[in-house]
Formats: sequence, C-alpha cells, structure tokens
Amino acid sequence: MATFKDFRNNVKPNWCPGCGDFSVQAAIQRAAANVGIVPEELAVVSGIGCSGRISGYINSYGFHGIHGRALPIAQGVKMANRDLTVIASGGDGDGFAIGMGHTIHSIRRNIDVTYIVMDNQIYGLTKGQTSPRSEMGFKTKSTPAGSIESALGVMELAISAGAGFVAQSFSSDLKELTSIIEQGINHKGFSLINVFSPCVTFNKINTYDWFKENLTSLSTIEGYDPSNRSQAMNTLMEYNGLVTGLIYQDKEKPSYESLVKGFKEEPLAKQDIALDQGQFDKL
Ligand code: SF4
Ligand code: MG
Repeated sequence: MATFKDFRNNVKPNWCPGCGDFSVQAAIQRAAANVGIVPEELAVVSGIGCSGRISGYINSYGFHGIHGRALPIAQGVKMANRDLTVIASGGDGDGFAIGMGHTIHSIRRNIDVTYIVMDNQIYGLTKGQTSPRSEMGFKTKSTPAGSIESALGVMELAISAGAGFVAQSFSSDLKELTSIIEQGINHKGFSLINVFSPCVTFNKINTYDWFKENLTSLSTIEGYDPSNRSQAMNTLMEYNGLVTGLIYQDKEKPSYESLVKGFKEEPLAKQDIALDQGQFDKL
C-alpha cells in the first residue's frame, strides 16, 4: 500500500514561494495514495504554464505536453492503457483559452480522466496577463486600463456541456481538495475540478485573503444536493461561481469506454490481439 510519500520525487518545484500550486501537488499525491494506487498506476499529463510543471514533480508516469493539449494526450493515454489512473492538469489559460475546445469535447466525450485546473485568474508563466478567468476591469500588462471582457463561468459551462462530475476547491483547503480529487478519480467518466490556486507574484487582487472572504462552501448551504443539475446551475449563478465542494455529479452517466463495443478494461498491451504471422512470410 503506497503512501503520499511514494508519489514524491526528488525534483524541487521552481514555483514562487507561496504559489497555490504546491498544495495542489500535495493533494494529488495524497489522493492517489488514498484511492489505493501505486505510482506505476498513475499518469499525470500537463499542459503549458507554471502549473503545467506539475507532471515533473510527482513520482508517476508523466507527460508535459504542449499548450492547451493536455486533454487529447491524457485521453489517448487512458484509451491505450486502461489500467492507468489518468490525471490531466494545467492552468486556466491552458484549459480555458487555447485548450477550451478540448475541454468542452472531453466533457461530452466522457473518457475516464480527472482534469485538475489550477485557476489563478491570470497568466503566470508569461509574467501576468489577463486570462479568460480574469474579472472585467482586471488590470494587467495586457489590459492596463482594465479588462473589457467578462470572465468565463467555467463551472456553468461544464454543466451545460453535459459534464458528469464538476467540482471546485481552494488550494488552501488541503483536506477538501484531497477529498474532491479522490472523488474525481473514483468517478467513472470525465471529471472537471477547478482549483482556485493563487498566483502570489502577479495577481494582487485574487489573493488568499480575497478567496477566504469570497468563497462559500457548498457544505454550508442547507439542502444542497449535488445530483440536482438545476440547483447546481442556480447556485453557481447566485454565488457568481465562487463556491467550493462537489457541485454536480451524475453517477449514472455512462463513460465513453463503457459505450465502446468490445471495449476491454485491460491495457491494449495485455490483450491477445491476433496477428497473422503468415503475412510476414510473404514479405
Ligand atoms: Fe505560481 Fe504565479 Fe509564481 Fe507562477 S508566477 S509560480 S503561478 S506564484
Ligand atoms: Mg493561470
């Protein structure tokens, strides 16, 4: 039985001290141990951005892909080696700007991949530009007079696209974040987990204190039922998306794999795929 320490490697993250991404890394390591897998059973695929470095900081299979393309790679990994638990991860720029098409189509395809987005409402790696998650009026080097575009409501978008698992958490709440990632891994199908993960260097608005003041835990909303899709939508709209916890889950939604005729759970490498050896003799 592995512990979270088994998912550590000796690579020192070069994130800024205080970056929220450290906690997301710790939560993934804890969640992986808690669901009972070993490092050889985990693949972490990431895109480009500060948070995209995460695939190199976890002792597992890893693939640091290209900008906005973590999900196509992760889905390919899952379909080729079905024994693996596959986590895709990256930032809000990676997943909700250049990668948004893949995010939406991964949601509707519903392959069993857990997608963890480290959402800091800014582009960190390129030193602080407005992202699709920045609020209107947000001032950065790319919008010095304030953004005149509105922020994308990604949780609402995911639910309307047919997502079977939508959750949100805050990097400071390691306990809840770990639990949410465990639930995402255990969900059979695509799971989207948006994590508010502050960029302490470039985002001086959406700070740890700002999130503490503005986030509402769904556990404090009486009668909240994550299987109720319309309640999930209404709550997101009421709180401007600033809620944490399991927002929506449809446990009955069939995964892509379960609908593929002849799909076998074991990896392709272990399947007895008959080759006509005679064809080589003819060469
Ligand atoms: Fe984290 Fe921001 Fe530093 Fe990037 S620039 S490592 S997102 S704090
Ligand atoms: Mg970002």
